[in-house]
Amino acid sequence: MKPYLKRAWAEISLPQLRKNAEIIKSLCARDTEVMAVVKADAYGHGDEPVCRCLSEKCGIKYFAVSNLDEAIAVRGFCPDAEILILGYTPPEYAHEIAANNIIQGIVSTEYADMLRNNSSETIRCHIKIDTGMGRIGLKYDTPEACADEIEKLCSSERLSVEGIYTHFAAADSDSRDDIEYTNRQQKFICDTYKQLKKRGINLPHVHFMNSAALCSRSTPDSTLARAGIILYGLHPDVSMKLPDGIEPVMELKAVISHVKTVKKGDCISYGRTFTAEKNMRIATVTIGYADGYSRLLSSKGEILVHGQRCRIVGRVCMDQLMIDVTDAQADSGDIVTLIGKDGNARITADELASAYGTIGYEVICGISKRVPRIYIRESARQS
Ligand SMILES: *Cc1c(COP(=O)(O)O)cnc(C)c1O
Repeated sequence: MKPYLKRAWAEISLPQLRKNAEIIKSLCARDTEVMAVVKADAYGHGDEPVCRCLSEKCGIKYFAVSNLDEAIAVRGFCPDAEILILGYTPPEYAHEIAANNIIQGIVSTEYADMLRNNSSETIRCHIKIDTGMGRIGLKYDTPEACADEIEKLCSSERLSVEGIYTHFAAADSDSRDDIEYTNRQQKFICDTYKQLKKRGINLPHVHFMNSAALCSRSTPDSTLARAGIILYGLHPDVSMKLPDGIEPVMELKAVISHVKTVKKGDCISYGRTFTAEKNMRIATVTIGYADGYSRLLSSKGEILVHGQRCRIVGRVCMDQLMIDVTDAQADSGDIVTLIGKDGNARITADELASAYGTIGYEVICGISKRVPRIYIRESARQS
């Protein structure tokens, strides 16, 4: 492990990432390949080590990103990978898309034309179909009408259509209504694909599986499974059960800088929102909202100190926060765990998310650039 400032850091377990990837592979139908979703710097885990691990150690060939900068970065780490940009790229970058052998998602028919007209080379693409997410994609009432448009795009110059895809809006829900909604989304994209086949258009790819779908439905019809959050070991929704063996990849740690005793009536932190209700021991921890540890956790979050949960008292500051260590062992220099395991205790990003009303995705993507990512390469950590 290379030296780093032991103030606030994230430990990323590559062996656990690998294990998650192997489990996800085993969930896929025989002809379905995993497409690792590595947008947003691999959900805050660091795209280079994550992509290298997945491609070199797990044999993953397909990657999905949100934009051209991410795609070009991934191309640098994985020269032979297939890389799909899920969202919009300004058409004036058509040349960069082609030059880096990237596959572009087509968000509308107008967009397809703008892209072609900005390009002298052929652009590889997958066409996004909006079957109910309401975000991007071609939207038609029937699979037949949708296939008509795709057929036109397939014969357009400088466009090489290699697949179609859609995105589920509520695959993480177990309500009957949502399950039926997802079923209708799935049927629409599959029927569109069948229509194209009937017309002699055999696209290599049709895909719609995401993490939530991988956890809740099995289908051989999606040629790619776009796995994001479960790769990193978090729940698409806290109500969902994760497949056995899938565990979080990231832990977040910091250090106790200072321990003191305060008297009943003493105030802690900005705004004096916390007043000691008795004589207490208070520890100051070297992490704050500028590290991505949300200020919304003020007086709400808990932190592990020597395997014991200690509550945050008062407001989370930009670079520091305070915890109640009256009943815990705590000394200056001790390492504390904000996300992860310590002894038998554990705090997950999903738990933090619930504490302030968001989802685990936002917690891990929000760990800021200032926090060094430390990569654990050997199987040092038990699962
Ligand atoms: C982000 C994203 C995914 C991955 O979603 P997870 O819930 O993290 O698995 C898949 N497909 C599209 C289009 C996305 O934007």
